[in-house]
Amino acid sequence: EKLQWAKLVNSPSVTKDGQQLTISANIGSSNDIPAAVNNGADEVGLFRTEFLYMKSEHLPTEDEQFQAYKDAVESLAGKTLVVRTLDIGGDKPLTFMPLPHELNPFLGYRAIRISLDRPSMFRTQLRALIRASQFGQINIMFPMITTLEELRSAKKIYYEEREKLRQDYPHVGANIKLGIMIEVPLAALYAERLAKEVDFFSIGTNDLIQYCFAADRGNASVSYLYQPLNPPFLKLIDHIIKSGHQHNTTVAMCGEMAGDRLALPLLMGMGLDEYSMSATSILRTRSMMRNLDINECQKLYHDAVTKCETANQVHDLVEEWLKNK
Ligand code: PEP
Ligand code: MG
Repeated sequence: EKLQWAKLVNSPSVTKDGQQLTISANIGSSNDIPAAVNNGADEVGLFRTEFLYMKSEHLPTEDEQFQAYKDAVESLAGKTLVVRTLDIGGDKPLTFMPLPHELNPFLGYRAIRISLDRPSMFRTQLRALIRASQFGQINIMFPMITTLEELRSAKKIYYEEREKLRQDYPHVGANIKLGIMIEVPLAALYAERLAKEVDFFSIGTNDLIQYCFAADRGNASVSYLYQPLNPPFLKLIDHIIKSGHQHNTTVAMCGEMAGDRLALPLLMGMGLDEYSMSATSILRTRSMMRNLDINECQKLYHDAVTKCETANQVHDLVEEWLKNK
């Protein structure tokens, strides 16, 4: 089976009925790019920039970050790089920036909340990204957006830095697309409004599931509540996708669910555009995708949310359905 997959490294991510989709890789540093490319990634859908900060003993300077983003996008040789701005918090400490201990770090001071509270650090990262965008296609997304005001504040800072840079580099950043992670339930519920103000969404199911089910993603005692196939959760994902599409906003997913073999036909049925996952899952996913018809996936999704009442029932329904593929 692996040998069969290897032939798909240069094949398009196309469905059986000819729809072009995107399968991309999640990376933690530019060292991960060769594996992403060798496994046939169409793009990098999530560059988690926190490692750049965590491995450093000081706040990475604008030039250090510029170099890292430039190297990354250049080694992608024309493929898009989606960079997520810093997503740290109580659970991911930085040596040079001690954060107060929190009882509930996942509900606390993290990600865009820190960036908006310490804008000079955020501005440095944005400037480095805007400059690096001269060397390839870089898109930027903000993590943990909860409200419209947070999104507007982040965008305001981004446009201010872009204007300043344009005094030295005219038109810099014109090709950058701006997006947000949808990983907080309120943002998912308000997707129809948020979609008007961004070019793309990327659904972060690791966090979205932990917040929807109120179950810490790292706590094994409650891991039974990690249920991506739960019917109301599937409906929420569908709502995000449909809301995005109403406003021409591309919808990607970069949480673990994007590489889940049972979720794949359901997500295709909902109309998800881009599937971003660990490099090792790409070829398996492409091989399945090329064998699935969108109309049939739509019927499967419809059955899942109308006939099933639990995640287990959806699991069995999809397993059974896949046997005939
Ligand atoms: C997610 O929350 O699904 C996600 C992709 O981000 P992270 O796992 O880095 O929180
Ligand atoms: Mg997340």
